[in-house]
Amino acid sequence: MEEVVQDANDLAQLQPMASAAMAALKVESLEVVADAGYHEAGQLEACEAAKLTTYVPAPGTCSGKTRDGEAVYPKEAFHYDPANDCYHCPAGQQLVRSGEGLKTEKLYYYYQNCAACRNCARREECTTGKHRKIARLKNAGVVERQAARVHARPDIVRERKTIVEHVFGALRIWGHDTFLCRGLEMVRAEFSLSALTYNLRRALNLVGIKALLAVFTAQA
Ligand code: SF4
Repeated sequence: MEEVVQDANDLAQLQPMASAAMAALKVESLEVVADAGYHEAGQLEACEAAKLTTYVPAPGTCSGKTRDGEAVYPKEAFHYDPANDCYHCPAGQQLVRSGEGLKTEKLYYYYQNCAACRNCARREECTTGKHRKIARLKNAGVVERQAARVHARPDIVRERKTIVEHVFGALRIWGHDTFLCRGLEMVRAEFSLSALTYNLRRALNLVGIKALLAVFTAQA
């Protein structure tokens, strides 16, 4: 499957491309592997709903630094407790949900415990403010489930690189990384030809002309 879009990044492409692949393969479920550029909570949620099992590594999250560059506990040092809908902080305190808000059109829940932070011996290592506040995406659960899958299958993430990066490398070497045509439809057609060329050459290299013709003949 190939597609050309005009988005500045791949964040909205995971579910549409994976669903298109599932339809083309005529299967009821599919394992999908993609790079970190496709990691977006809404897309992961849509994939889960569409029976697409995703393996998408997350880009780097909280570095453990404030906006001013001061070191604090990273968000990963706080453990979410789904049964009680709270976070357990490094000092063993519970940060409870205290509000919600939209950030870049996404709904976040906020967790804090002002009283605990006020008397905490670790506060200087934790926050430069009066108390620590943790933001959690409304659909963070789906992100955490998929992070557990990625953690459990480093092999599948590694294998993706050996398959997919070969395509980009080959197209670049052939000079197919810029377009001769102009306009979205024309560019889509041009890129489809590039993809077809790659697939045919790859199949010929891997299985040879006889085996390829045998498959075509069987399908005719
Ligand atoms: S400052 Fe607050 S959140 Fe941070 S460790 Fe102390 S009690 Fe926990």
